Amino acid sequence: MPDSRTYADLESGLWAHFDPAFCPCKGHGWLLSDFDTHHRCPIHGVGVPDPRGEDEEETRVPFDWEAHEIQMLRNAYARYRQCARHTGFKGSFKELCVSVKGSVPVSPKEWVEAAYIAASWTIQNEVL
Ligand SMILES: [Zn+2]
Repeated sequence: MPDSRTYADLESGLWAHFDPAFCPCKGHGWLLSDFDTHHRCPIHGVGVPDPRGEDEEETRVPFDWEAHEIQMLRNAYARYRQCARHTGFKGSFKELCVSVKGSVPVSPKEWVEAAYIAASWTIQNEVL
């Protein structure tokens, strides 16, 4: 992505998005800028080993990427559900996800994709 952000902007972490699919860190926890500088994502970078190898404490124990991904996707799903609740949607969010997707999502990633569509649907219906 073309990066016109300053070093301070990158360090601020304001670029982070709760859904790893939309976050510039892509869920890896760190953003590598066009300046070749690493910046920890405030949402997905908690506990993720520093790619510069500067966190000796964290690199002693192998990082559980699978658990990290599942937790990230759980949080994103919960956030989309919360968005739907804020629009006044009171039904089963899970059922709404299945209905907007047209089938039962198989993977956690598919659940989050369906939750994104479901939350968008509730927001559009609130506006209309
Ligand atoms: Zn991130």
